[in-house]
Amino acid sequence: MTRVVIVGAGVTGLTAAWALRRARPELDVVVLESRSRAGGNVISVREGGFLIDGGPDAFIRTKPDAVQLCRELGIADTLAAPRPESRRVYVVRRGRLRELPVGMSLAVPTRLGPLFGTPLVSWRGKLDAALEPLRPAGRDLAEDESIEDFFARRVGRDLARDVAGPLLAGIYAGNPRELSLRATFPQLLDLEAKHGSLTLGLLRAARARAGGPQLPPRGGFAARLDGALQLARAPAPPAEPESPFLAPRLGMGKLVEALARELPPGALRLGTPVRSVRVTGRAARLEVLVESGTRLEARHVVLACPAHAASAMVPDERLARELGGIEYASTATVFFALDRAQVAHPLDASGFIASERESALLAATWVSTKWEGRAPAGSVLLRAFVGGRRDPRRVETSTDEQLARFARRELERLMGPLGQPRFMRVFRWERANPQPVVGHLARLKRLAACVAAVPGLHLAGAAYDGVGIPDCVRQARAVATRILAEP
Ligand SMILES: Cc1cc2nc3c(=O)[nH]c(=O)nc-3n(C[C@H](O)[C@H](O)[C@H](O)COP(=O)(O)OP(=O)(O)OC[C@H]3O[C@@H](n4cnc5c(N)ncnc54)[C@H](O)[C@@H]3O)c2cc1C
Repeated sequence: MTRVVIVGAGVTGLTAAWALRRARPELDVVVLESRSRAGGNVISVREGGFLIDGGPDAFIRTKPDAVQLCRELGIADTLAAPRPESRRVYVVRRGRLRELPVGMSLAVPTRLGPLFGTPLVSWRGKLDAALEPLRPAGRDLAEDESIEDFFARRVGRDLARDVAGPLLAGIYAGNPRELSLRATFPQLLDLEAKHGSLTLGLLRAARARAGGPQLPPRGGFAARLDGALQLARAPAPPAEPESPFLAPRLGMGKLVEALARELPPGALRLGTPVRSVRVTGRAARLEVLVESGTRLEARHVVLACPAHAASAMVPDERLARELGGIEYASTATVFFALDRAQVAHPLDASGFIASERESALLAATWVSTKWEGRAPAGSVLLRAFVGGRRDPRRVETSTDEQLARFARRELERLMGPLGQPRFMRVFRWERANPQPVVGHLARLKRLAACVAAVPGLHLAGAAYDGVGIPDCVRQARAVATRILAEP
């Protein structure tokens, strides 16, 4: 009998296996992966002197789980932050790239000067945003609402639609009118609840970091007005914290390699798609049926594959329905290896984002500006994000050549000539981006109840409690802890 079977060798599955074996080296753990490689969304490839992260290119360090994992794997000294030049971000406005104003944090303005000076936001939008500290907190803060509705309520419809939506929903390749604010950026709701205003909450945090004079604590309208006036007077820009992102210098693939290296021979079985999981009624509890016909008995099964794949495997109809109800978006990342001299744009930022009114392209990253060591001398590497909820059919219905042609046309429209690429690379991420839409947290509660009815079955990964790598690591560790707690 195999004690624990893990389905899916993405970051979640590999971390769960590692955490289990680390705590109990004698534990029999098997990871079954349908593809011929481990890593799931994480993949780094080298080509012609370029280093390409086809999926994620970094993780956020303000959620400490991924950094901690790197420490425990002994690869923390290989982590690097993006280059300082890449702190700048552009946003498309009327077909042109406009710099995101200094002092914008999570799409919330904390400085009036740059906000009023930017051509990115309409005058109505600027005024609306400047009045944010004066607006009372929402009456029912427990109610779920979309990212766009939340921002429209706090900073006005224009900033919500043109900046906050593409900036925040872009991380999910999602629609800002569908994604749940509470499931994606709960820290903004906390700011509203604690400070009555996002702007004042962020300003207080920045002042505390810089040791500057404090704004008055939360209070009634008079205190908010006083806070707003201080915002207008903001004497010196609050110190910018260091970049919240980190990645292994040689690409995100190194994280996956380090995890896979820790598993004993035979524990990771590639090219092994799981068909179903069945309850046995015996001590082994569960039986995993692999497409080839092989059966594995286990006391615990961790489904660390996408929710739509898990939905087709589970032994309970209600559970299958809830899993199948989690929506996904399909995206593609399209890479262009270019000669620096042929690219007209100065590439002086990490890249740009675009709202749906401006482009069918979601965003672009100027990879070799953002990261050290990604392109050989005299060359640059660019990445375009295509598809998502904005353009849902494009990835599924286009060939790689069509995707590359579309991305190149859009990049050249917005950035100017790119020259003749040395090569292009397309990575397809079909149904790979889970969408925590309004109602997601309620679904998670229903899911937890369904899973509890199947002893030994566990769910973890991007579909559930956070999509980022640190969220996946945290969930994997939590599952391992639950399994280890059982006799
Ligand atoms: C283009 C892109 C860019 C991203 N950028 C970032 C970023 O910069 N930072 C960040 O933190 N996050 C980013 N993310 C999100 C992050 O990559 C994912 O949330 C995370 O990698 C998910 O890991 P996972 O292990 O939960 O799932 P996956 O990586 O999806 O792994 C699940 C595994 O299950 C396998 N599987 C599926 N069906 C079966 C089956 N029947 N039997 C066996 N195995 C099966 C799959 O093949 C896959 O290997 C990005 C995602 C994408 C798509």
